[in-house]
Amino acid sequence: MEPRYTDLQSCAVDAGAPLVIVDVDEVLAQFMRGFGTFVERHGFELRVDRFALFQNLYRPGETQHIDLIAGKALFDDFFRDGGEDLPPAVGAADALASLSTRAGVVILTNAPEHGRQTRARWLKTHGFDYPLVINSGPKGPAAAELAGRTTQGAVFIDDLLPQLDSVAASAPGVRRFQMVADERLRPLAPTAPDRHTRIDLWSDLQLAIEAELLA
Ligand SMILES: [Mg+2]
Repeated sequence: MEPRYTDLQSCAVDAGAPLVIVDVDEVLAQFMRGFGTFVERHGFELRVDRFALFQNLYRPGETQHIDLIAGKALFDDFFRDGGEDLPPAVGAADALASLSTRAGVVILTNAPEHGRQTRARWLKTHGFDYPLVINSGPKGPAAAELAGRTTQGAVFIDDLLPQLDSVAASAPGVRRFQMVADERLRPLAPTAPDRHTRIDLWSDLQLAIEAELLA
């Protein structure tokens, strides 16, 4: 079966069920963990010193991070070839499977163009067999569009504050949850609990979503 890779316009949403809109990296996938494994195999180190990507990449023993062009090249290679290094977030597949018995699920990700098929296959392999919408830039407009296709409410889950703020601006009726799957990133991630509920464990997040959408 082909991955369920779709686009925003043709993504079917059950109008009679609540909707869970969910990000991939650091929500369903442990991106930093997988990217770290990948760059090590290529002779680099990923040090989780800050909530950033390319500024955390080093040659072993060096104190200055590698230049951004080299970092971007590794990032591009990882999206194309690094699927095997990418571990799923603990508990995510089970939680979504349970939620999906009573709610619709749409995966909304900003994967680069060349990584889309790899991403779709990775999701299916790890039990995330839900419609996949590839976005670029702020996610608020896409989340608003998807949430508008159901009368039963929607939630949005992402690790990045700018994406959560974008959804708050475009779709204020959509309840936002911030999830950071990587334990090392959790204390480093910018957060705004007054605007978006922060929950880093899928078992807890599942209960909160159930209380929000299915009570
Ligand atoms: Mg993410």
